[in-house]
Amino acid sequence: MQVYDTHCHIGLDGKVAPEDDHSRAVAASVGALLVVGIDAPTSAAAKELCRLPGVRWSAGLHPNDSTKFDDQWPTIDALARESTCVAIGETGLDCFRDRTPLDQQERSLRAHLALARELDKPVIFHCRDAFEPLFRVLESEQRVRGVMHCFSGGIPEADKALALGLYLSFAGPLTYPKNQVLRDACAHAPANRVLVETDAPFLPPQSRRGRRNEPALVIETLTKLAEVRNLSLEDAAALTYANAMTLFG
Ligand SMILES: [Zn+2]
Repeated sequence: MQVYDTHCHIGLDGKVAPEDDHSRAVAASVGALLVVGIDAPTSAAAKELCRLPGVRWSAGLHPNDSTKFDDQWPTIDALARESTCVAIGETGLDCFRDRTPLDQQERSLRAHLALARELDKPVIFHCRDAFEPLFRVLESEQRVRGVMHCFSGGIPEADKALALGLYLSFAGPLTYPKNQVLRDACAHAPANRVLVETDAPFLPPQSRRGRRNEPALVIETLTKLAEVRNLSLEDAAALTYANAMTLFG
């Protein structure tokens, strides 16, 4: 079995060496990881981690850090152009923590979209309490390939994202007992558009709630995805791995 954690931030919290998170992931059959940048320093650190087998990386500026755009964008733009960088992001909109004005978030988001089109690389979208403004921006722009990371909506939001050509990536919340709306969306999505991720060290699955998350635990979310979609664990792994390879290479 080969599993692809399409969104993690190993090394970010400084509590566990990224090599240790990586080796436990490999031992758990999670042989492919995408380490996602959230600003210039973490994008550069993600690049360094691609020395580890199966690790890919992205460069981007998180919407909650959009006020750093003018300072950091030249560095992120340069990193994104490197041939080993597989995706642009994470970018997007976040209306949950409103420490960053939405107009600044939107300016950063549009810069990521333009860069992704220029480089023909997929975009990793963060969307927290922001489906309506995010879809409005995406509908006003030319299409990009990409993924709704840690998808958190129901069937209507899934349909909108799918109509924009996006993939849906499911994280730990898929395993939370109260989250039937999310499981319904997961069951509803076409087979060729579903991915799994941890968002480690954040968002642990149900069995580890309140504790630190790590890429090896993507198996718990994958097990739930398999159950929801009526697949064996092996078939769910093969499906989501193939989808991730199609999107990110
Ligand atoms: Zn993230």
